[in-house]
Amino acid sequence: MIQQTNYQQLLKNLEYLKLKQMITHLDEVVDFSVHNQLSFIDTLIKLTNYEIDLREQNMIHAMVKVGAFPNLKELKDFDFDFQSSINPQQIHDFTTLRFIESSENIVFLGPSGVGKTHLASAIGIAAAKKRTSTYFVKCHDLIQNLKKARLENRLESRLKHYTKYKLLIIDEIGYLPIDPEDSKLFFQLIDIRYEKRSTIFTTNVNFKSWDEVFQEPKLANAILDSILHHATVVTIVGNSYRLKNHLAPEGE
Ligand code: ADP
Ligand code: MG
Repeated sequence: MIQQTNYQQLLKNLEYLKLKQMITHLDEVVDFSVHNQLSFIDTLIKLTNYEIDLREQNMIHAMVKVGAFPNLKELKDFDFDFQSSINPQQIHDFTTLRFIESSENIVFLGPSGVGKTHLASAIGIAAAKKRTSTYFVKCHDLIQNLKKARLENRLESRLKHYTKYKLLIIDEIGYLPIDPEDSKLFFQLIDIRYEKRSTIFTTNVNFKSWDEVFQEPKLANAILDSILHHATVVTIVGNSYRLKNHLAPEGE
């Protein structure tokens, strides 16, 4: 009877402390502990680990959500055999986040459908899972956002906002031309992150044609200079994965 009262008291305490996982796993851990003659400390470790595991999972989930990734494709979902111009080792190394430690950039360059967005977000998700603040944005949306901020006289705070992310992913540079005024905004962002923060870029436009994207050669040069100064460029050649099933098998 006393046993049961104590047990109920313990449940009440755990409830009061909002330790839901410990409540859920209490019986199981007590049984395990008795059966295996665990020490008091080991039993407590086992019980508290359930609470910690869930909080870790929630934290990871929240970090990934904040990242605003277009989808949750990860490196394990990438078929390296299909895209033989990519060195899997190099991509796996990116997920160790060594490049973030040294504030380096990554540029994925290649035609449509070869996996640039997939790889960039996979690295971003890996970073978010390791609690590195990460944000994914399409270049066009980023510029619209900065323009709006400038109109509303809050450009500086918006730029600061984008600087706080340890990893920023700017997707699809060059899909739409950017007028010189907007190119300046883009440069301001690149400049403020330069040598402080890592950025991953994806583009389908060769660097020598960035003049046409930013429509102002001096700015295009300055942007390229800052991006490429400390960057690894991953050039992907090959077929679009989207067309994979429509292409003749090799050797035919
Ligand atoms: P890009 O950004 O280069 O245009 P995406 O990354 O959007 O291409 O890839 C197009 C689609 O094909 C996505 O759904 C992506 O997940 C998939 N994909 C591309 N390459 C591969 C690959 N090698 N293995 C698995 N899926 C791939
Ligand atoms: Mg893409």
